[in-house]
Amino acid sequence: MQTLAATLTGPDRPGITQALMTSIAGLGTEVLDFEQVVVRGQVTIAVLLGSLPDDLDTLEDRLAGTCARLGYRLTIDEGIGDNPPRPKRVVVTILGRPLRATHLAAVGRVVAEHGGNIDRVRRLSRTPMTTLEFMVSNAEVASLRPALAATAAETGFDVSVSPAGLSRQGRRLVVMDVDSTLIRDEVIELLARRAGREAEVAAVTERAMRGELDFAASLHERVATLAGLPESVFEEVLESVRLTPGARTLVATLRDLGFAVGLVSGGFIEVVGPLAESLGIRHVHANRLEVSDGVLTGRVQGEVVDRAMKATMLKKFADAEGLPLSRTVAVGDGANDLDMLAAAGLGVAFNAKPAVRASAHTALNLPYLDAVLHLLGFSREEVEDAAANRPPRP
Ligand SMILES: [Mg+2]
Repeated sequence: MQTLAATLTGPDRPGITQALMTSIAGLGTEVLDFEQVVVRGQVTIAVLLGSLPDDLDTLEDRLAGTCARLGYRLTIDEGIGDNPPRPKRVVVTILGRPLRATHLAAVGRVVAEHGGNIDRVRRLSRTPMTTLEFMVSNAEVASLRPALAATAAETGFDVSVSPAGLSRQGRRLVVMDVDSTLIRDEVIELLARRAGREAEVAAVTERAMRGELDFAASLHERVATLAGLPESVFEEVLESVRLTPGARTLVATLRDLGFAVGLVSGGFIEVVGPLAESLGIRHVHANRLEVSDGVLTGRVQGEVVDRAMKATMLKKFADAEGLPLSRTVAVGDGANDLDMLAAAGLGVAFNAKPAVRASAHTALNLPYLDAVLHLLGFSREEVEDAAANRPPRP
C-alpha cells in the first residue's frame, strides 16, 4: 500500500489540524496515523496518509499550500506501508537536576548498543527535576536495566526501566520503608536522643543499614538503650518527625489514583501507626516496643521486622489488595529493604546505601519522594492538577 508521511513544523496556534485536514478532505485519503507535539510554542505534526488519490500532486500541492499560508515548514515522504511493528517495548524514565545532553547521549548510546530503538519521548516534569519518559522498542528489561543503571550512576542521573504494556496501567500497590524513606529521620535515633544515647545508637543504625550487622541483633542492642523512657516519648517523637519532601504529595496522589499504599518499618508502630493514619495509609507493619507501667522496658514485643519480614509483608499486602507482585512497587533505603525491593515488580532504592543502590531495579538519588510517580508514568502537570482538585480531608 502506497502511503505518504507529512511532517509540519511551525508556531503552535489554534485551528491547524482543521486547516490541514480541510484542505485534503475532498481527496478521499485515509488518516493512518497522526501525532503532534508542542515544545515552547513550536508544534510538530506528523501525519501518515493512505488510500491516496491517483493524482498525488494535487494532494501534495494542497498540503504545501496550507503550510505556506500558515508559515509552516513541510516535509513529504512518499513510501510504502504503515509504521513498522514495535515489539518488545520497554519504558525508560530518566531524571536529572539538571538533565544534560551528556545524559541523553549516554541513554541513546546504551539503547542503541542493546539493539533498541527510541520510538517516542515525552517530558514528565520540569521541576524540581527534569524527567523524560522514553518508549523504546526491540529491548529487554533484563539487559537494558543493569546497563542503563551503570551508565546513570557513572554519568550522574537517575534512570528506571520497566516493561511497557498492561502491567504499567491500572492499579498498583506501593509499599514504603519509613525511616530515611518516608521520613527524613531514624525514629530510633529520635527516641535514643531522649535517653541521651543518640550518638551510640546512630552509629549502630548506620552499620545495620549498610548491611554490616545482623538487623535483629542490632535492633535489640539499640532498643535496650531506650529502657526507662516514659511512653510519652512517642508523642514527642511523632511531633518532631520530618516527612521527606514529596512524601505527602506521593501518598495523596496514589490515593487519588485508587492505588493501595503500605508502610513496612523496622522502626516502631507507636510512631509509624499514627503517621500512617495521618496520611491515610491503610497497610502498616512495624516493630512494637514493650511498655510496662508506662515505661519502655528496652525490649521489642513479638517478632522483629527484619529484611525477610519486610518482603513477607509486601506479599501479604498485595494478597489483601488482590494484586500480583508484578503490580507492586517497593521503596526503601536500607539493607533491610533489599528482599522487599527484589520481590516487588519495581524496587526503588531511595537515596540509598551503596549496597542497596547497586542491587535494586532502580535508584533514585534526588531527595524527592514524589519522583516515584514519574517512574509510574504520571506527569508533574497531572500531579499538580490532582492536588488542585483534591477536596480537603475531613
Ligand atoms: Mg530506612
